[in-house]
Amino acid sequence: MKSILITGGSRGIGRATAVLGGARGWSVGVNYVGNVRAAEETAEAVRKAGGRALPVRGDVASEGDVAAMFEATVKAFGSLDGVVVNAGIVAPALPLAEMDVIRLTRMFEVNVLGSYLCARESARRLSRGRGGRGGSLVLVSSAAARLGSPGEYVDYAGSKGALDTLTIGLAKELGPEGVRVNAVRPGLIETEIHASGGRPDRAQALAPTVPIGRPGKAEEVAEAIIWLLSDAASYTTGALLDVAGGR
Ligand code: NAP
Repeated sequence: MKSILITGGSRGIGRATAVLGGARGWSVGVNYVGNVRAAEETAEAVRKAGGRALPVRGDVASEGDVAAMFEATVKAFGSLDGVVVNAGIVAPALPLAEMDVIRLTRMFEVNVLGSYLCARESARRLSRGRGGRGGSLVLVSSAAARLGSPGEYVDYAGSKGALDTLTIGLAKELGPEGVRVNAVRPGLIETEIHASGGRPDRAQALAPTVPIGRPGKAEEVAEAIIWLLSDAASYTTGALLDVAGGR
């Protein structure tokens, strides 16, 4: 049985991962930032699937919140074996020339600083040299890191490029500590993130650009994340795993 923490576990890819973890009998910390109802629904779904669940509020861009969400998860479950650094945001499609500094600041605060803070806390808690028992860290990047997202959100794409680089470096840093570090790079996945960027139909509209011919489901990304968390992936670290239908 594993204990894991999923940032942004209340909805979308995070929720699907939480429920799949529950089906394995795992204990899951379900982080959210504002949507308590979604977090509670996800926690209930995890329990129904056979796991334990703890909804835990916190903004990943806040150092104090990150420390508190890890602390609450360890306190509830007694240990921590895996972390999914999944919370992320997009913003309305614009060319870079039109993006204001408020948008850029929040994009990098949540997607880059937030992910680095969560990865740092994971390193502190999982590393064998620091009293941890090793484990697995999965960063949720995006195909945007290699596509660049021109005219839509080059800010978001760059924030995900940072996660790919973090994955490569941290896997080398934490290999001797018994911690595997990998990234998944989802393509067009049907979740509410597209509505938050002002285009709820984006995944369906861009389906013709996907070799497989359709958008993906959150559950299809969750399968890859769960595998990377599991002992079945014991020799996989530093990998950037595309789950993007060939796009
Ligand atoms: P989503 O459906 O919009 O869900 C976002 C989740 O992140 C929610 O649980 C939300 O919590 C949480 N969150 C947002 N800001 C946060 C913050 N500051 N602190 C803590 N939690 C925060 O998104 P999704 O599509 O599942 O995306 C999950 C990850 O996959 C993101 O990193 C995204 O960039 C990446 N991704 C998605 C796609 C796609 O097509 N969907 C493609 C490539 C990569 P609340 O419920 O409280 O708001």
